[in-house]
Amino acid sequence: MTGMSSDSKQQYDVAIIGAGYEGGLLGAILAYKGVKVLMVDNSIHPRFALGESTVRHTFRLMKIIGERFGVPEIKDKFSSASGLHTSVAASCGEKRNFGFIYHREGQHQNPTEATQLVIPPFREGYEAHLFRQDIDSFLTYTAVRYGATVKYRTSVNNVEIDGSGVRLGTAAGEEFRARYVVDASGSFGVLSRALNLRDNPPRLKLNTRCLFTHMIDVKEYDDLVLPNGVPRYPERWYNGTCHHIFDGGWLWVIPFNNRKGSTNQLVSVGLSYDNIRFPRPKDMTPEQEWASFLSKYPSINEQFKDAKPVRDWISSDRLQTSSKQSVGDRWCLTAAAHGSGFIDALFSRGLASSTEVLNALASRLLKAVKDDDFSREKFEYLERVEEANMRINDRLTSTSYACFRSFETWNAWYRIWALGVGLGDLRLTSAYRKYKKSHDESVLPDAEEPMGLFFSQHAGYGELFESCAQQVDAMIAGSASTQQTADEIFRRMRECKFAPPSLKLGDPNAKFINQGTIPAIFQTLKWLMTSAPPEIKEMSMGIMADINPMSPHSRWRTKPALT
Ligand SMILES: Cc1cc2nc3c(=O)[nH]c(=O)nc-3n(C[C@H](O)[C@H](O)[C@H](O)COP(=O)(O)OP(=O)(O)OC[C@H]3O[C@@H](n4cnc5c(N)ncnc54)[C@H](O)[C@@H]3O)c2cc1C
Repeated sequence: MTGMSSDSKQQYDVAIIGAGYEGGLLGAILAYKGVKVLMVDNSIHPRFALGESTVRHTFRLMKIIGERFGVPEIKDKFSSASGLHTSVAASCGEKRNFGFIYHREGQHQNPTEATQLVIPPFREGYEAHLFRQDIDSFLTYTAVRYGATVKYRTSVNNVEIDGSGVRLGTAAGEEFRARYVVDASGSFGVLSRALNLRDNPPRLKLNTRCLFTHMIDVKEYDDLVLPNGVPRYPERWYNGTCHHIFDGGWLWVIPFNNRKGSTNQLVSVGLSYDNIRFPRPKDMTPEQEWASFLSKYPSINEQFKDAKPVRDWISSDRLQTSSKQSVGDRWCLTAAAHGSGFIDALFSRGLASSTEVLNALASRLLKAVKDDDFSREKFEYLERVEEANMRINDRLTSTSYACFRSFETWNAWYRIWALGVGLGDLRLTSAYRKYKKSHDESVLPDAEEPMGLFFSQHAGYGELFESCAQQVDAMIAGSASTQQTADEIFRRMRECKFAPPSLKLGDPNAKFINQGTIPAIFQTLKWLMTSAPPEIKEMSMGIMADINPMSPHSRWRTKPALT
């Protein structure tokens, strides 16, 4: 890094490279709080971006951010799917379930081979499918409303940092100065490249690739007439994020048009492969590869018979990246720019990781601007959070790809994920509830050990997760059959003391999880009042307010979506 002259007129407190979800959200918070923010993006809104399916943790963290920093657009409009649909973008879809339908090559789907995690109908209701071009522009324009400067079509190609500040050089020869720089350029990783931080190869076990596009005229899987029928579970597959899984990969179907009132006709479609077993073919276009895939899976083929891409397919090489470091004096990489914000789209973890990191980053940056102290140690927590998310998501996802080899292993392993999601949600909800009452920063997630995605800092869950993953390792090594592996995971689930019995996690025949029914709620409340462990009881205090059917946020009071 070199020194710099101090005669620039364009001096900012914080420069953000990238005006996507991460850049837009951070820019909005900082600008609202009076920080002089510059956002630089080499593209212009609206523009395509991936990261379309939210999970509970995304909105839970948004609620915390809304309450903590007070930006009205985030607090009132962006912290629930219903708020988002009515006040941010009518082009977004709805997510009422995480669906996983298992397919075998050359055969029509067997309807007994599917699993579903229903999004419970309490609290804010449901999750969302984000049409990112509208979401990212909303966040960026909010930042502008509060005083941020946005430079579009401006490509950062040089970053210099020293004790006195940061200098961003652009492809057009402009120069911007700031006291701190945040790299939110996603997988482009502008800063990690400039500072030579990229691991080559990435320090991740998972090695997957993807081809994706947006399509029109995708059929609703539930309405297909298939030789063996369609799995009938509590929620329609089309009303959620549907994962068609098979040995070696999976396909996402994320409809934007599955909600009454949606103004969008499109569906996001992406095919992910194990990149070792199925490397990107050199002799095929993405269109040909897509056609070849459909010819092997007849039930999926029915869903896409009339579908047409509305934009060119994009085919990637290995998706995973990682950086050696994510914070330094006067700089940091957000989750996506570091590589921890995205491991694989399975389980839709990207935006939740991004939001977790931004919540922690925004509070530290506000303090740094005030104290004029941008030293690395003030931001060290971010590195821990990003590492924990990366490590556990890698373990979770690579184990899942191994479990795709049989339905019984998938049926067992998916419960480990579902339990972690539920308990992590409980933890975040409890933190939000306490913070709302007290505004005491010590109850917030970034005052504790990183979640490592959801609940992995809980000794019992961490042990369950790792011991079951090791069971799958044994299967990969050939020392256990798929059936033995599944049986062992189910056995451990039956012994688990911190999972509500109403989830029926130890029963292989209970293939969907639905905590939203009245009997399940009563069973869980009884368990909470009697045999639940103390830490679960503690986190559940006040839960009744959330599941109250008369609450203004309850889905029981809102009109159902298309059925
Ligand atoms: C295949 C795939 C599927 C995914 N699916 C999901 C999902 O279902 N759910 C989920 O939560 N997450 C998902 N993710 C992760 C998600 O895409 C990211 O976490 C999210 O997009 C991060 O947003 P961002 O704002 O950091 O990056 P982006 O949206 O990529 O924004 C980066 C911005 O930086 C700009 N930029 C790039 N280079 C420069 C430069 N040199 N100068 C200036 N600006 C620059 C770009 O134009 C862009 O606007 C997925 C990711 C992939 C790859």
